[in-house]
Amino acid sequence: MAEQVVEDLRERCATPASLLHDVAAEMADEMRAGLEKEGGSRVKMLLSYVDKLPTGREEGLFYGLDLGGTNFRVLRVKLGGNDKRIVNRESREVAIPTHLMSGSSTELFGFIASELATFVADEDKGNSFANGNKRELGFTFSFPVRQHSISLGTLVKWTKAFCIEDAVGEDVVGKLQTAMEKQGLDIHVAALINDAVGTLAGARYYDEDVIAGVIFGTGTNAAYVEKANAIPKWEGELPKSGDMVINMEWGNYYSCHLPVSEYDQALDKESLNPGEQASFFYILSVHAVGSALAENSFWFFQIYEKLTSGMYLGEIVRRVLLKLSLQSATFGEIDHTKLKTHFHLRTPHISAMHHDETPDLKIVAEKLEETLEIAGTSLETRKMVVEIIDIIARRAARLAAAGLAGILKKLGRDGSIEKRRSVITIDGGMFEHYVKFRKCLETTLSELLGEESSKLVVIKHADDGPGIGAALIAASHSQNR
Ligand code: ADP
Ligand code: MG
Repeated sequence: MAEQVVEDLRERCATPASLLHDVAAEMADEMRAGLEKEGGSRVKMLLSYVDKLPTGREEGLFYGLDLGGTNFRVLRVKLGGNDKRIVNRESREVAIPTHLMSGSSTELFGFIASELATFVADEDKGNSFANGNKRELGFTFSFPVRQHSISLGTLVKWTKAFCIEDAVGEDVVGKLQTAMEKQGLDIHVAALINDAVGTLAGARYYDEDVIAGVIFGTGTNAAYVEKANAIPKWEGELPKSGDMVINMEWGNYYSCHLPVSEYDQALDKESLNPGEQASFFYILSVHAVGSALAENSFWFFQIYEKLTSGMYLGEIVRRVLLKLSLQSATFGEIDHTKLKTHFHLRTPHISAMHHDETPDLKIVAEKLEETLEIAGTSLETRKMVVEIIDIIARRAARLAAAGLAGILKKLGRDGSIEKRRSVITIDGGMFEHYVKFRKCLETTLSELLGEESSKLVVIKHADDGPGIGAALIAASHSQNR
């Protein structure tokens, strides 16, 4: 019985190369459809209005602000131009008090501005802002934003632990600017971006072959450099650089080739953002145009994210273990309270079990007992748990690689057209800490590209973080020059 549960899971979550090639090809198709017209794809392909990525030649002092997960960071970089690059950097990380995540926007932005004011106050006196130059800042705000220009964007909705009703639909830069004025801070917000765009910019500063920035953390997203004339939905004047960074919002990618199991379906239905609610209008439009979209594709919201990112992998494994326990005697007589608690098993827990190299899987035993109150497991049972984790993590890493292959395919950098070096920079806690995920992602991408083409593609971990990227984009879009 237990073997059957694992066997079914393995079968349902299989990701043979042929399937991944289909996922990649469809990702490239969705990218084209999303660039064609607003609403043309579930992958939104939003214009970031970043049309000048940093080159390394920027000079001066710039500020960055990073608001995304639970912490926010203020930082300051001194850029020395060409050979010197980043001469000095200072940063401070502050935990956002929980009550501010669901209070009013005046309180949240007031708190951010006051932290920034303290940070600006201890600025080195040698860094003068003479010549009428204003201080400039780049703001990394990793929530869905409808962008209207490089420094104007309205909040579409909050995600993660944030919920501040009065900010929805409002201009977030305006909110920040007002709060800064109240603190007597004279700082110009030169750019509003998200973490994927920031990751791209941070790496591009050092290496002009960087074409994309990708996040695998709590969630997942990707941003890449597109030719402005390859964006039919673009209505304004084309930028001088000829380039435009696209914020893909690829977490919502869907293809009928995605290996979605019963556990993922249940997770989607019970999640904060289930498919059926989010896509009500999508269902209507599907019926209206009689589209031949895959049956019940509209059930899934952010499904690619749910299959590949840190917030969900532990939770999927918990669901499999629960079924295993309810349908077989694998864990013996146990109290199911913890095993039944949503999101109780977290991705760092499964990562620790997955990397257990002790001969008797001691760490697996410990984690099962500590987190799920499953004690006295046999070695055979522990091996089975690792097997389940491996199935879920491998599927995630292989689908992640297929997404990257999709971007390369769209750009003709999969070896099909452009025979040049391409660097993709990746950030996020999952990519950074989950070694097996990272290795599997890398080998799968090579497998998909083939030996020749994979020599031209480099995957790099972003070590500077998104805050720096925002300060660098503020520099490349500076008005002080
Ligand atoms: P965010 O995406 O909120 O900016 P991070 O990039 O720091 O945050 O990613 C945090 C996520 O990374 C966590 O939700 C967790 O799923 C994952 N993570 C953190 N540490 C580990 C670990 N040791 N092993 C696997 N995943 C981890
Ligand atoms: Mg982050």
